[in-house]
Amino acid sequence: MLYNEPSPLEVKILTRRFGLPNSQSIDTYLATDGYKAFEKAIGMSQDDIINEVKASGLRGRGGAGFPTGMKWSFVPRNSPKPKYIMVNADESEPGTCKDRLLMEYDPHQLIEGILIAGLAVGSQQGYIYIRGEYRYLIEVMDRAIDEAYARGYLGDNILGRGVRFHLATHSGAGAYECGEESALLESFEGKRGNPRIRPPFPAVAGAYQCPTVLNNVETYCAIPPIILQGGAYFAGLGTPKNGGTRLFCLSGHINKPGVYELPMGFNLMRMINEVGGGMKGGKKLKAVIPGGSSCPVLKADECDLAMDFDTLAAAKSMLGSGGVVVMDEDTCMVKALLRIMRFYAHESCGWCIPCREGTTWLRKLLTRFHEGMGQASDIVLIGDLGKNMLGRTFCPLGDAAALPTISIVEKFRDEFEAHLNGEPCPYENRSRLVAA
Ligand code: SF4
Repeated sequence: MLYNEPSPLEVKILTRRFGLPNSQSIDTYLATDGYKAFEKAIGMSQDDIINEVKASGLRGRGGAGFPTGMKWSFVPRNSPKPKYIMVNADESEPGTCKDRLLMEYDPHQLIEGILIAGLAVGSQQGYIYIRGEYRYLIEVMDRAIDEAYARGYLGDNILGRGVRFHLATHSGAGAYECGEESALLESFEGKRGNPRIRPPFPAVAGAYQCPTVLNNVETYCAIPPIILQGGAYFAGLGTPKNGGTRLFCLSGHINKPGVYELPMGFNLMRMINEVGGGMKGGKKLKAVIPGGSSCPVLKADECDLAMDFDTLAAAKSMLGSGGVVVMDEDTCMVKALLRIMRFYAHESCGWCIPCREGTTWLRKLLTRFHEGMGQASDIVLIGDLGKNMLGRTFCPLGDAAALPTISIVEKFRDEFEAHLNGEPCPYENRSRLVAA
């Protein structure tokens, strides 16, 4: 059973095996061009592989959007230390659920991407760091890894071609913070998942202070099609500097929520209306979180835009991790922000004061406000708290909490004002009336 009905508008590159019978197995994978890109890459030089990835315009799919080929080129060639390939499978951004599907439905595509990354930087060891809540996926990945060993795609002399690579899974304990790359590395090494001060970056000093390539699941999964069909082909699917397709996780008040693979630059309004089947119950669109809960929200009249890194940045938001949360006219934006803040206050690792105290105070203020006990000065205070957190924390979680706060207070100030003077939430009233 598939996660959702595919849309005819999808361009299925990374998800093309989703829905095939027994899509997890190596037999299905091999029958559908599996491991051919790796075999091709064995005959390529390290520079050729990296240049092909650069030509593809692939940018990291975890959220930051850093060019993948460039990241790989930062790994020192002549380091005497071992090099590691690390997979960030700690997908925990609210609204995002696509790495889970890539591992569940096509685990060998991920393994092949890791193998090619290993060839590109001269690494012989990889690890997949999987978030604790995805425990069932560790079994899926371990099974696929066992199959790859049994068929000679992992080991000391892969396919008799003199290539050595070993791969293992590693379970996180379930902390949002460990999705940040340096905190992930600390956690991987058995320490508390606090972020590291950078530089140095993981490409130079990552796992065990050795050169490490660290990318998101979706990023590695894009590598086999890039090598097999060429970087130019992949680049041509998207927009300039935003190559390829992207798995968008559509959720919220739409008729067909789900994970859809669409070209980078796909129009957001078309995504809502044509891919997502339009607004549920014929309601009006109020706002969209375009890339996971850490992104500034877009008002309805700002949503006619291309979903790529640069267009979203120009619109003062972010493409982030591809979690598109759609909110209709009956959504209380104060409550939406409160729910976001409950998450960040809970997940703050406590390492730095602006994040630890800021998220806690925002949660308290928003709770009070939503319960009708807010004061006009609180509106300013909420916005100021967000602004004072921005850029003043060790890792991006502080910004992740600040950015939606600042944008929601700025864009929906009237909704905050509607909660003043002991007034109950007008949207909850509306829901109750509808229910009655
Ligand atoms: Fe921890 Fe928050 Fe500081 Fe990140 S920003 S290090 S999560 S306290």
